[in-house]
Amino acid sequence: MFEDLLDRLGLSSVESGACHVRWVDDPKGEVIASDNPATGQTLGRVKYATRDVYEEVVDQAVGAFKKWRMTPAPRRGEVVRKIGNELRKYKADLGLLITLETGKIRSEGEGEVQEMIDMADFSVGLSRQLYGLTIASERPRHRMMEQWHPLGAIGVITAFNFPAAVWAWNAMVAAVCGDTVIWKPSPLAPLTAVAVQKIVARVAEEEGFPGVFNLSLGSIEDVGEPMLNDGRLPLISATGSCRLGYHVAEVVGRRLGRTILELGGNNAVIVAPSADLDLAIRGIAFAAVGTAGQRCTTARRLIVHESVYEQVVDRLARAYPTLPIGNPWDDGVLVGPLIHEQAVEAMQSALRRAEEQGGKVVVGGKRLDRPGCFVEPALVRAKRGMAVVGEETFAPILYAMPYREIEEAIAIQNEVEQGLTSAIFTRDLLEAERFLSPEGSDCGIANVNIGTSGAEIGGAFGGEKATGGGREAGSDSWKAYMRRQTCTINYGAELPLAQGVRFDVG
Ligand code: NAD
Repeated sequence: MFEDLLDRLGLSSVESGACHVRWVDDPKGEVIASDNPATGQTLGRVKYATRDVYEEVVDQAVGAFKKWRMTPAPRRGEVVRKIGNELRKYKADLGLLITLETGKIRSEGEGEVQEMIDMADFSVGLSRQLYGLTIASERPRHRMMEQWHPLGAIGVITAFNFPAAVWAWNAMVAAVCGDTVIWKPSPLAPLTAVAVQKIVARVAEEEGFPGVFNLSLGSIEDVGEPMLNDGRLPLISATGSCRLGYHVAEVVGRRLGRTILELGGNNAVIVAPSADLDLAIRGIAFAAVGTAGQRCTTARRLIVHESVYEQVVDRLARAYPTLPIGNPWDDGVLVGPLIHEQAVEAMQSALRRAEEQGGKVVVGGKRLDRPGCFVEPALVRAKRGMAVVGEETFAPILYAMPYREIEEAIAIQNEVEQGLTSAIFTRDLLEAERFLSPEGSDCGIANVNIGTSGAEIGGAFGGEKATGGGREAGSDSWKAYMRRQTCTINYGAELPLAQGVRFDVG
């Protein structure tokens, strides 16, 4: 199944990790393996871009920008439309490759490709909607307006857990905005990046725009750091851990470059006494256990009213052992493996610390006795103030805490460093509105009677505080990929100055 798959996606056993107007490699580039986390077997190999190759990629992307920025936006949208159509043809194969590289289940792998297609469709529409305001001028016979111009070649750094969709959130929008894109994907999912690049570069070339979409997969030293420090890249969009974000903000900020930061989450679900518990249990289970707890939006904290706390913990404790864990490509499996050994160790360490800090593992948490990085999702009784609860452990651990008053629940929800997503299950309108009010959730995303994960692309996606403040995908996120220009046009014979200033010369 796997060899055929690579053939169908046009992948050979050793691929190059760099592409601009054509695929390039340097014989000195290190070759890395892509391993299937469910079996430990190597799926394929990719050769890293060296520093020289990185320089070449940026030069080409900067060169391609000159033509791309002067191409009418709807024409740029046409290229993106064709990319979306091509992705449709490869949805099943690309989805399976994502499953094999990251361990997410089949429907989630395909769902990720669907998200790319949706981003293409959204961006095609956007290409005819890059609008600016016209503003009333205080001066007679003057017109004032805002227009938005492309920024340049931009750097896109992506995390392992959404190895394709996050690129599309950025690249599809950036492309219609007139930017060229240099993608530094995660070395944990390199084949997905190469496969996506092959599809996209082919379309761009056929359309007469090679060099708009570029790939530079390499080490932190040869590609990552040079990218952050590269004055030719006016914007770095980075998705990954908070630790990465603090570093990117500092380095790119030092050169006054712009950033879009999409970082870690520590998302909570509040379950109020009026909640429909059947709905809540289903929503919590998907949010906490889906993608084996490896989503930025995974529910990691459960804040339950004391009147239903025992009932909710008990129902989840009964549901958890029935979750089908196994090969993520098999039908019926809902929980695949963690990405690597370090993730398994991080989970074990967090559970040990949780018990030391007064928590109690109710169910799960063990490593499965089989090859691959499989773990049982864990449910932990926890108390407010436990240090480990404030961390994002990228694994399926759900900390359940009781609350008495809604103010307390919101305070617990808001007291972590991160601010990505949040949810409340309630049938009390006043409580729901309070959760959504300025004194409610402090997160970028706040849901009512829906779990924390599974956002739609039409909304702006991102979070506050240590999650970085960036927004990607829908709504008006496009503005971050463009530069704003305020223009004033005098169509009269006088030269009046603003604020009544007089400066008569001659
Ligand atoms: P990570 O921070 O380890 O790596 C992310 C990317 O940054 C990788 O491509 C990595 O190679 C690169 N990188 C690391 N150091 C760098 C440096 N010095 N310079 C340039 N690039 C560098 O994250 P991960 O383990 O791949 O992904 C999981 C994390 O990502 C979690 O914290 C998760 O919450 C977060 N995430 C956030 C979002 C979001 O939209 N908010 C989406 C997906 C994942």
